[in-house]
Amino acid sequence: MNNNVKMQKSSKIFVAGGTGLVGSAIIENLLNKGYTNIVANYHTRVPNNSKFNIKHSTLKTNSVRYEKLDLLDTVATEAFFKQEKPEFVFLAAAKVGGIIANNTYRADFIYENLQIQNNIIHQSYLNGVKKLMFLGSTCIYPKNCPQPMKEEYLLTSELEYTNEPYAIAKIAGIKMCESYNLQYGTNYISVMPTNLYGPNDNFDLEKSHVLPALIRKIHLGKALEDNNWDAIREDLNKLPIEGIDGSASEKEILYILDKYGIKSLNIKHSKLNISIEIWGSGKPRREFLWSHDMADACVFLMENRDFKDIISQQFTNTPITNNLSLSQSTITQPMADEKSCEALTQSPITNAPSGNALGVHQSLSNEVRNTHINIGTGVDISIKELAETIKEIVGFKGELYFNTEKPDGTMKKLTDPSKLHSLGWHHKVELHDGIRRMYEWYKGKTNE
Ligand code: NDP
Repeated sequence: MNNNVKMQKSSKIFVAGGTGLVGSAIIENLLNKGYTNIVANYHTRVPNNSKFNIKHSTLKTNSVRYEKLDLLDTVATEAFFKQEKPEFVFLAAAKVGGIIANNTYRADFIYENLQIQNNIIHQSYLNGVKKLMFLGSTCIYPKNCPQPMKEEYLLTSELEYTNEPYAIAKIAGIKMCESYNLQYGTNYISVMPTNLYGPNDNFDLEKSHVLPALIRKIHLGKALEDNNWDAIREDLNKLPIEGIDGSASEKEILYILDKYGIKSLNIKHSKLNISIEIWGSGKPRREFLWSHDMADACVFLMENRDFKDIISQQFTNTPITNNLSLSQSTITQPMADEKSCEALTQSPITNAPSGNALGVHQSLSNEVRNTHINIGTGVDISIKELAETIKEIVGFKGELYFNTEKPDGTMKKLTDPSKLHSLGWHHKVELHDGIRRMYEWYKGKTNE
């Protein structure tokens, strides 16, 4: 295995799932950092380079190329790797969906995710990929996980039933990366981002997550209270709701808005009094990360950290400072099991035929687990506070109505990002600023 794992600007980088929210944010980050040799796959969606916000005119969107590839197809994936020979891989392709899709298409979620990640991880190993990043999600943690969620809480109790097949596939991905690293000396890193939001998010009220749904509903509520039918029709033309677009009659539009909780109550001071219905009490707390921050964290880890840094840090519990190689950082601190730690950190990574490629002769005292990294802010906000923040940014004057007859879901879901912080990365965009930028993007004012 080649120990020279530093990503060069001309390195061949494969972004699997490059048309998705996560994959496209990673490509944009790579382009803005000057990477010139990116290949991404597409499957059903047609790629669109014009949506990238490239910050310097010298940087070119033609540094990224797309190939059509169904990652469920083992033979096609094998041919792709043989032909392209990527040096670095971001595995951001997955079958994803909300709670209803996860619960209904349980077989598809476990089969497709296992198949996609098996194909990519195994082909990466066979083709000598220098470093790979596997993207999972925080649904890997138990249903009643202590808060904030630390990496070590993985597999400590039962999962949430509705997305168990998806979570099991993601946990298998983490274990696959760890196992290939331990057996074959590969350099695969797993990251688990929290809820993301940002440009290109899904604003379809039938399917969208809470933050983009609230932005759109409150935006439509504001247009309605201002009697701004042009804005309402423009919005529906961009993204119809249940097939209702801007050409529908006022009656049809008011009906569909009401169905999705944008309700006209009565006239107050010559303005319509509008109420936005929000499911639940507003008390559940959630964490949100700007999608470009997430991409920045992924690229930072791929540029600067290796699997051995993560296990070294785990064994020493010492923050890793920038550009500190493992040998330099080695273990000046006291530790519980000095021998096993030395074995972990001083052995060269090779394709050792016997034993363990990292030099770990595994015993109960030196188990290597929970090497994945949470990517989050460590800050949460109640749904009520979130809705009020959006209301203020949009300038909506009407009411927010919390329908307590509807379910709340989990009361708190927050990551502990300490490990990420000690690896040297911290989020930059705070929620208020992110929502403001996302709303500008939504209104079509910026390319953000
Ligand atoms: P998207 O649905 O936006 O993107 C999924 C990508 O996977 C698309 O590019 C899609 O291609 C591709 N894909 C799916 N099936 C296939 C296939 N059979 N062959 C080839 N490509 C395929 O998802 P996200 O970007 O949101 O998620 C990506 C990863 O990030 C997932 O692992 C998810 O768990 C993780 N994540 C996402 C979070 C979020 O809030 N969005 C939060 C935490 C983690 P195409 O569009 O062309 O069909």
